[in-house]
Amino acid sequence: MSDLPVSLLPAIREIAALLARARRVLFITGAGVSADSGLPTYRGLGGLYEHDLTEEGIPIEDALSGEMLRRRPEIPWKYMTQIEENCRNAGPNAAHRLMAKWERELPYVMVLTQNIDGLHRAAGSENVVEIHGDVHRLKCMECDFREQVDSLAGRVMPHCPKCASAMRPEVVLFGEMLPEAELDRLLVALDVGFDLVFSIGTTSVFPYIAQPVIQAVQAGVPTVEINPGRTHLSGYVSHQLPLGAAAALSAIEEARVG
Ligand SMILES: [Zn+2]
Repeated sequence: MSDLPVSLLPAIREIAALLARARRVLFITGAGVSADSGLPTYRGLGGLYEHDLTEEGIPIEDALSGEMLRRRPEIPWKYMTQIEENCRNAGPNAAHRLMAKWERELPYVMVLTQNIDGLHRAAGSENVVEIHGDVHRLKCMECDFREQVDSLAGRVMPHCPKCASAMRPEVVLFGEMLPEAELDRLLVALDVGFDLVFSIGTTSVFPYIAQPVIQAVQAGVPTVEINPGRTHLSGYVSHQLPLGAAAALSAIEEARVG
């Protein structure tokens, strides 16, 4: 913890104490958690592109939309493949590993992630709500056939072996609904409630990402935001650590077991 600002140490100790006695913990994670694995932080699927328009001369939100997948599937496939290439050689970092460790040690831990890189599961987390899907899961657009792939290399626009229809990565494109089963699991868990809620490496722009934090604040449940920059939630949470995910969680773990 020596390289952390001394001013943060009291907050880190308090968070470690909260975590040590917590029974139900929710970790909400975004691109900032994968940044420590070398992945670019991007807003949703689209902010990976800093330019306003893609090579096709359209906004990335249109290029990566459900509608485009139906009209010109080669365009969203091209950008989904680029996103997947960016995370192809990345592995979980200390932040992913600690959340997985705490899931094994605490009575109940849920990870709600916006990331589509699959790194939480790769680190060993099991109770993960992948609200935007996982780019490594392909599904048939017509039947129930699904397939887990290591990469999309050589798997661009494949056809279903069962019914020969087009397949797609199981990710939520712009204009598409959130996956119902994942959303249901989240709502059931939120209904039971949490006694500690973390928001890590996300600017919380999506309402379904910010809402569990706001709900916790309103219920008097301690909340922790870990993000290098301030967000619209920073003023509401019980603790705000202006740190990267791996550094912050490593310091909390050190204080928890120390
Ligand atoms: Zn099929």
